[in-house]
Amino acid sequence: MSDIKKKSPIWHPFTQHALFPEMTHIARGDGAYLYTKDGHRLIDGISSWWVVTHGHCHPRLQAAAKAQMEKLDQVIFAGYTHDPAEEVARGMVDLTPDGLDYVFFSDSGSTSVEVALKMALGYWYHIGSKRSKILVMENSYHGDTIGTMSVGERGVYNNPYNSLLFTVDCLPFPAKGAEQETLDQLEAKIKADPDGVAAFIVEPLIQGAGGMMMYSAETLREMHRICQEHDVLFIADEVMTGWGRTGTLFACEQAGIVPDIACYSKGITGGFLPLAVTMCHERIFNAHYSEDRSKTFFHSSSYTANPIACAVAAENIRMWQDEPVMERVSRLASSHANWLEALARDDRVENLRQCGTIAAFDIKVTDGGYLSDIAPRLYRYFQENGILLRPLGNTVYLMTPYCLSDDDLSHLYGTIGRALDDLS
Ligand SMILES: *Cc1c(COP(=O)(O)O)cnc(C)c1O
Repeated sequence: MSDIKKKSPIWHPFTQHALFPEMTHIARGDGAYLYTKDGHRLIDGISSWWVVTHGHCHPRLQAAAKAQMEKLDQVIFAGYTHDPAEEVARGMVDLTPDGLDYVFFSDSGSTSVEVALKMALGYWYHIGSKRSKILVMENSYHGDTIGTMSVGERGVYNNPYNSLLFTVDCLPFPAKGAEQETLDQLEAKIKADPDGVAAFIVEPLIQGAGGMMMYSAETLREMHRICQEHDVLFIADEVMTGWGRTGTLFACEQAGIVPDIACYSKGITGGFLPLAVTMCHERIFNAHYSEDRSKTFFHSSSYTANPIACAVAAENIRMWQDEPVMERVSRLASSHANWLEALARDDRVENLRQCGTIAAFDIKVTDGGYLSDIAPRLYRYFQENGILLRPLGNTVYLMTPYCLSDDDLSHLYGTIGRALDDLS
């Protein structure tokens, strides 16, 4: 291996360099398109890993970044504040369900989840309770740091680090028809240790990295109700589901619930710059509010609430408020529904499913799972046909920017159909 002549010193994420030595070199982005250095155009079928909502290089977001970088680049956020952060915080309080009153900034989905876990444990600790157990749902993904891996599904991606991961209690996924089993187990696990369970963390309505696994709003509502009944903090990880992905601005809206703690990132800047917020109910903040300095929330990262990232997020929030973004979301969702209906007649695929602007299905294979051989073959096929799609094992999904044209959506589904013909 070591005699490989690497062209670049970069070690890429989720990339097996021995099997994929060549990176695709992107030079520019525009709307739903990416352009390679040698001039090929790719349709961004996965919004550059679920972050780009309005399209690449959106002029409004560009303008916001440019204006801010001429005023203030970065400032310490402990003891200091600035307009862009204040605008984002107020905007988030307006957009999210009533009851999420405090906003803590960080820079990625993973850090927003770490913050959520620390807030939950800090809450119980500071009010003098011993509760510290975290409940999770089978098949979850909450990030790749040690803490977020601990609350996520264990498997090939975190085997080497198992000794460091903390113990959690895991509920079965509420598959269609088996929802009651999940609810019963949630209640049973809490009742078995009423003074031990601190929080339950979920991806609302759809698990992303776990394979676009969907469950009903009613189940989400019931899980929340059970937690409320037993005073267990409910943490919603809206990192992927936020910003229109599920057909509403945030997934929790569909269940009519207000989580105690919620994490938002990915689309918060429209996919332009890294930023995240963790929002919480005032009781969480109040438990840390004290003249006793040991109750301070001891969390920060160097770039907390970076002004440029915040200025872009503030502009993104304004876009949701003054442009018909929700109409674009609905239009894309109904186009997917039509295409999926047609694809359902193909017996080489199964489990067709949709959650708002996210469409997914499984290709029938003998070697399912994340390491299924079909994934890299499809990935290459799509790329050769001008499409960026990155199947999760034998699960193919589409999660495009909302500016995608009907023609491009038709090209995506057409190419998927041809891939099934050519690769089977
Ligand atoms: C992507 C994702 C994360 C992690 O976000 P990063 O910005 O990659 O750290 C956490 N939770 C969910 C549900 C995600 O989809």
